[in-house]
Amino acid sequence: VRLAEVSSKVNSTWYSASSFSSSVPTVKLFIDGKFVESKSDKWIDIHNPATNEVIGRVPQATKAEMDAAVASCKRSFPAWADTSVLSRQQVLLRYQQLIKENLKEIARLITLEQGKTADAEGDVFRGLQVVEHACSVTSLLLGETMPSITKDMDLYSYRLPLGVCAGIAPFNFPAMIPLWMFPMAMVCGNTFLMKPSERVPGATMLLAKLLQDSGAPDGTLNIIHGQHDAVNFICDHPDIKAISFVGSNQAGEYIFERGSRHGKRVQANMGAKNHGVVMPDANKENTLNQLGQRCMALSTAILVGEAKKWLPELVERAKNLRVNAGDQPGADLGPLITPQAKERVCNLIGSGTKEGASILLDGRNIKVKGYENGNFVGPTIISNVKPNMTCYKEEIFGPVLVVLETDTLDEAIKIVNDNPYGNGTAIFTTNGATARKYSHLVDVGQVGVNVPIPVPLPMFSFTGSRSSFRGDTNFYGKQGIQFYTQLKTITSQWKEEDATLSSPAVVMPT
Ligand code: NAD
Repeated sequence: VRLAEVSSKVNSTWYSASSFSSSVPTVKLFIDGKFVESKSDKWIDIHNPATNEVIGRVPQATKAEMDAAVASCKRSFPAWADTSVLSRQQVLLRYQQLIKENLKEIARLITLEQGKTADAEGDVFRGLQVVEHACSVTSLLLGETMPSITKDMDLYSYRLPLGVCAGIAPFNFPAMIPLWMFPMAMVCGNTFLMKPSERVPGATMLLAKLLQDSGAPDGTLNIIHGQHDAVNFICDHPDIKAISFVGSNQAGEYIFERGSRHGKRVQANMGAKNHGVVMPDANKENTLNQLGQRCMALSTAILVGEAKKWLPELVERAKNLRVNAGDQPGADLGPLITPQAKERVCNLIGSGTKEGASILLDGRNIKVKGYENGNFVGPTIISNVKPNMTCYKEEIFGPVLVVLETDTLDEAIKIVNDNPYGNGTAIFTTNGATARKYSHLVDVGQVGVNVPIPVPLPMFSFTGSRSSFRGDTNFYGKQGIQFYTQLKTITSQWKEEDATLSSPAVVMPT
């Protein structure tokens, strides 16, 4: 399967079926309202992770192309910022409708490039919810007022856009994460330069086409492709005012520091090691069904007290997960993104054995019929894990559950709080006081109570903490609006004509 077979919006818009010397399709850039072929001589292959076939190529945009993209954002900013908030809202209202109508096509692109199962539709859906919430901009952008702060004087503040903002996205949520970024920024009146993950550009390109079809003026969204050079370009360019990043700690900390050094606002959502604490009084059936893996999924279980006895049953359930290409019916787990990612995960599983853990379920040698070249790892459970082991300390980012055991809730809380990451955590219990104690004492920005993946809905914000986040203003919700706006506060005095000042005022009013 090639991109052309899953996307009806091919050829004419964001994709060339073939280019120069190659029959492999190439992804275009989106500059100033046009989908254009890059003149770059550096290209990156896009693989279908279920087969490792090359399905397309993405350019590393040239300096001239990146400059043109920022110039386009900058040129279109004044008019877009001056467009009435109701008109910007109308664009977003049309956009959410078009995303709904094209949801399955976006999801098919995600499955092709990223490998996801039916969960690809959830990826689009969670992004769509952010767009829907951004349609409330008429309330979200309200400023504050205070009349009569002294005689004839009123005070009020506006939330105004920053200018050109930029986004750098990871591979694991090809639709949701770009949709955390440009719709929020643009509805506030900013223009946006997006750099999708070079491994999964398709969803972003189709989303750009749909935004254009919704009436976003040319130049308000530009898309460049690339890796380090594109990232450095974004961090350094003086016309870019803010950067939204989601991805690994290695890249995020670098981008946070380099971008901040150039005076930009930066928000960076990064890696995770999410712990699920299972209390012996939990609803066993629900709890065992909910332990899994993703960046917000629970990659670490802490079984407290008698809950340790549930381990064999957990293994039995994990064995039943069906591993297959994402587009195959009934697939529970798809492939990892690259052969290198698979190798890394397998090595981390191996490190568990060397360091004294037990592998209760080993997915390293799985063969998927018809997809022998894919990057598959089957469900894996490692028990007897201690906090000093490599498989505990590293983010594994594969279908691997590491299991620790404690006698008490307090010991479990200590393990979670000693871990540097603070993205998400969950407790499974039927005791309200236990749940309350855990939520209160655990130093993690997002907590689920009997909810394994506590990703907040977009009227709230994504509040990962500690090593999972750099910056001070989170993604989407009220925090997202704050990130993409600056306040202007106006103190205004209007006196009636005969009430002029009696003498010149040279001191601060007291
Ligand atoms: P990644 O950091 O490799 O890539 C993210 C982006 O940064 C890409 O656009 C890439 O081109 C760029 N990049 C990669 N390496 C770089 C470097 N050394 N210097 C500059 N730029 C670089 O991340 P990924 O592998 O695509 O995504 C997986 C990671 O993202 C995991 O660590 C996962 O936990 C994290 N993640 C976090 C959240 C969250 O909200 N906290 C959500 C999704 C993913």
